[in-house]
Amino acid sequence: MSINVPRGTRDFLPDETEKWQVIEELIRDTCRLFQYKEIRTPVFEHTELFTRGVGDTTDIVQKEMYTFTDRGDRSLTLRPEGTASVVRSFVENKLFGLPDQPVKLYYIGPMFRYERQQAGRYRQFIQFGIEAIGSNNPAIDAEVMALAMSVYKKAGLKKIKLVINSLGDTESRQSHRDALIAHFAPHIHEFCSDCQNRLEKNPLRILDCKVDRDNPLMDTAPKLPDYLNDESATYFAKVKHYLGVLGLSYEVDPNLVRGLDYYNHTAFEIMSEGEGFGAISTLAGGGRYNGLVENLGGPVSPGIGFAMSIERLFLALEAEGQKFTNIDTLDMYVVSMGEAAKDKAISFVSQLRESNITAEMDYLDRKVKAQMKSADRLNAKYVIVIGDTELETGMVMLKNLSNGSQIEMSFEDIISKFDELKLSWQEELA
Ligand code: ATP
Ligand code: MG
Repeated sequence: MSINVPRGTRDFLPDETEKWQVIEELIRDTCRLFQYKEIRTPVFEHTELFTRGVGDTTDIVQKEMYTFTDRGDRSLTLRPEGTASVVRSFVENKLFGLPDQPVKLYYIGPMFRYERQQAGRYRQFIQFGIEAIGSNNPAIDAEVMALAMSVYKKAGLKKIKLVINSLGDTESRQSHRDALIAHFAPHIHEFCSDCQNRLEKNPLRILDCKVDRDNPLMDTAPKLPDYLNDESATYFAKVKHYLGVLGLSYEVDPNLVRGLDYYNHTAFEIMSEGEGFGAISTLAGGGRYNGLVENLGGPVSPGIGFAMSIERLFLALEAEGQKFTNIDTLDMYVVSMGEAAKDKAISFVSQLRESNITAEMDYLDRKVKAQMKSADRLNAKYVIVIGDTELETGMVMLKNLSNGSQIEMSFEDIISKFDELKLSWQEELA
């Protein structure tokens, strides 16, 4: 009996991993431009990190974690998101002591959530995220949003929008919370059982419910922006000011709340408006988390970040009809006839590769015709055929497969003049 991948996970075969490499490179380049440095943390952590860092009332902690006990009886959890781990590491490695603050970090890696599989929702998915920790300046909020938008735009997305809101500080959230309870309590029996539990524990989360999202009480619910105290309102106004300075357009959605407990002040999402993207239109989510560092045992260090899954970025690209071109090209296929020629082919292919020329040969001892077919299928730009004559004379016909032209050259010249050759043939084609 054969064994399949676990539900909610996928294999990425070479024709897909190529696209992933393009996107990952684009992400790394963008982070370099913005001066965010990569951090790599373990894929599993102590369970307590997430119950404390993400919050016990969240869907993630209540329903979605892959938690297990290891052989030493510790409760460990496959990371469902990146921020808690980055903040743990920030505290553990005392990055708050670095002379340059804020500390700007990014990560790309797998996250694990026990969810119902559907388009854009997997049990293992790859998130790219950034965190800027150690600044409470609204200009950094704008920078974080700009970086996310920049990645999407460079990837080729056009139909995206930035949606923002402010959750305010603790005081603002408290008065909003009281108003929410008063609003929903008389009708809470109309809501799902999750929402009934949320009412006392975390009424804000009701606004983020996927089951009851069309209940009319959602629209009439008390809006966060109306409960912001002066300080929070000023902060929000400055964030919007800096978005304007950066020339980024945005929409304010007073009902936007984020799924994790630790957010305050700025919250944002980036949505796809591409046709056919489907029900899940959120590409990325992020926000400010002043207090999380302290909550995980560090000194006061306000932070902000976002996370996006690369799977959803690809879905959005598909919805907009974007195509990726093949990046992995083959420069030369080396065909050989006979044992002595095979030795030469092996050593020549190795020399080509050492000179940064991508090269391939036959490993099935096939006839010349079959080897030529492989060269075609692999889309090789050039092919050479090594037989007894070539071994004797040291000269070989270099054939350009795209236009059929040939030149006779020595093996050494092929390598030393390869760049020139490529150029002149390219000009000829143009
Ligand atoms: P959703 O409301 O879609 O469940 P979320 O609020 O749980 O999203 P976050 O925790 O904010 O999502 O994660 C940030 C981003 O990670 C999302 O905007 C989305 O791009 C992506 N993401 C979240 N869960 C999954 C998943 N199961 N599969 C693929 N991508 C995901
Ligand atoms: Mg979710």
